[in-house]
Amino acid sequence: MTADEPPVTADEPPVTADEPSATADARPVTADERFMALALDQARLAAEHGDIPVGAVIARHGEVLAAAHNERELRSDPTAHAELVALRAAASALGSWRVLECTLYVTLEPCAMCAGAIVLARVPEVVFAAADPKAGAAGSVLDVLGDARLNHRPLVRSGPLAAESARLLREFFAARR
Ligand SMILES: [Zn+2]
Repeated sequence: MTADEPPVTADEPPVTADEPSATADARPVTADERFMALALDQARLAAEHGDIPVGAVIARHGEVLAAAHNERELRSDPTAHAELVALRAAASALGSWRVLECTLYVTLEPCAMCAGAIVLARVPEVVFAAADPKAGAAGSVLDVLGDARLNHRPLVRSGPLAAESARLLREFFAARR
């Protein structure tokens, strides 16, 4: 995420999901949805201290290795995006800058900084919820995660709980206006 401006606007949702995917009673919840739901819980924590609600979870072998949320305002740190905070915690837990055998879940498409860090950390797999048409670097504005010229390209999926993530962002910005 970036954002001096709302990454999503009320009249123009960037999400492609047709409806909230949390229709859990209709079908089993997938692993992607389970971890993304935890990332959304993190995103809500960010909003509690006035940070744009973006959350991230790093899962390894089916378990949560790290969970974090945007703390840019809280720490007065322009680099304290959810993905970077989570990557630091995961690398610390693994004792290695290579965050291997992991999937990084994030509620908003990573920005250029976070996508760059994901490539540097050799994260094998990334799943994001809502797209960010203003700053996304997983295909929306740039495609850092998919650039064949770089030495590492994670698998990327998008969409799980996208509508919920976009709604959380819209509500946050609506409340601040
Ligand atoms: Zn970022």
